[in-house]
Amino acid sequence: MIDLHLHLDGSLSKEDFIYLAKKNNVSLGNEFPNNIVVNKDCKSLEEYLKRFDLPCSLLQDYESLKYATKSLVLRLFNLNYIYAEIRFAPQLHTLKGMNEIEVTKAVLDGLKEGLESTPGFDAKIILCCMRQSSSELNKKTIDAAIYLNDEKIAAIDLAGPEAFLPTREYKDLFDVAIKSNLNVIIHAGEACGNESIMEAIDIGASRIGHGVHLSFDSESLKKVKNKIYFEFCPTSNLQTKSLKDYEFVPIRQFLENEIFVTVNSDNMTVSDTNVIKEFKHLYRAFKLSKEEVFKLLSNSINGSFMRESEKEIKRKALLTKIDGFYDTILL
Ligand SMILES: [Zn+2]
Repeated sequence: MIDLHLHLDGSLSKEDFIYLAKKNNVSLGNEFPNNIVVNKDCKSLEEYLKRFDLPCSLLQDYESLKYATKSLVLRLFNLNYIYAEIRFAPQLHTLKGMNEIEVTKAVLDGLKEGLESTPGFDAKIILCCMRQSSSELNKKTIDAAIYLNDEKIAAIDLAGPEAFLPTREYKDLFDVAIKSNLNVIIHAGEACGNESIMEAIDIGASRIGHGVHLSFDSESLKKVKNKIYFEFCPTSNLQTKSLKDYEFVPIRQFLENEIFVTVNSDNMTVSDTNVIKEFKHLYRAFKLSKEEVFKLLSNSINGSFMRESEKEIKRKALLTKIDGFYDTILL
């Protein structure tokens, strides 16, 4: 399996929570573990995003960030993943005095240490800017990526509440990233519609986080076809009320229009999911064929920020694993 849209703070395991809470002397609350996932009554993206307060409070020092990242890498390997891009917002982990460079370094160290014992699995990281933050703070995220200049840093992303803070406001910020040859992803078309997606593409995003509200008018299609990769995260979309049910995920429309669409988890813990579960949900709703699953996973490889030589290795791995992956989905 492959996950291109996976948030670190939304994917701590229950065991990670217990370990990190003890280490950092933080209370998990009386409702734990019910307070680390959203329930069916979640009303909006804003409510969903509140689930990140507790994990963020646990990830404020070098050791904790490194531990959590390594733990996630090992879990993905054990789930038979072949590749993942793990994202986080460095600026949310500076409450105890680390700067964004130090935060990113901690995650990179955890990633690299984890990858030492995961043959056949590789991963990179993505640094998120936040919509609700000042451009000064977001600029520090981009500066951290430029300063560290590490091949494991795959891209810059824009996350956070989309409905109140329009995508076009972030053009100047992402100009800096693009001028520095950084790849750009933007969460768009999740809480908002097609306009937000088009703005994200105009700003320079090559991948769209979610993007389920794409219009299929000829102008929009022209802009996205053979260019833009979409990172679908179905369960998360249902929980944030972006979509009503799995049958409304426009996966077939995207496939039939030959738009590069991928399947991802968003937050393994908050959404109680992983890419295998996401494919199972989509299979139940659409009876996806093996060819369609292969196409979706091929899109993930092609849309990843691996080097071409690395992609070629993953294409070969996918060919040998697709039967097993498909069998797992059907289970
Ligand atoms: Zn996301």
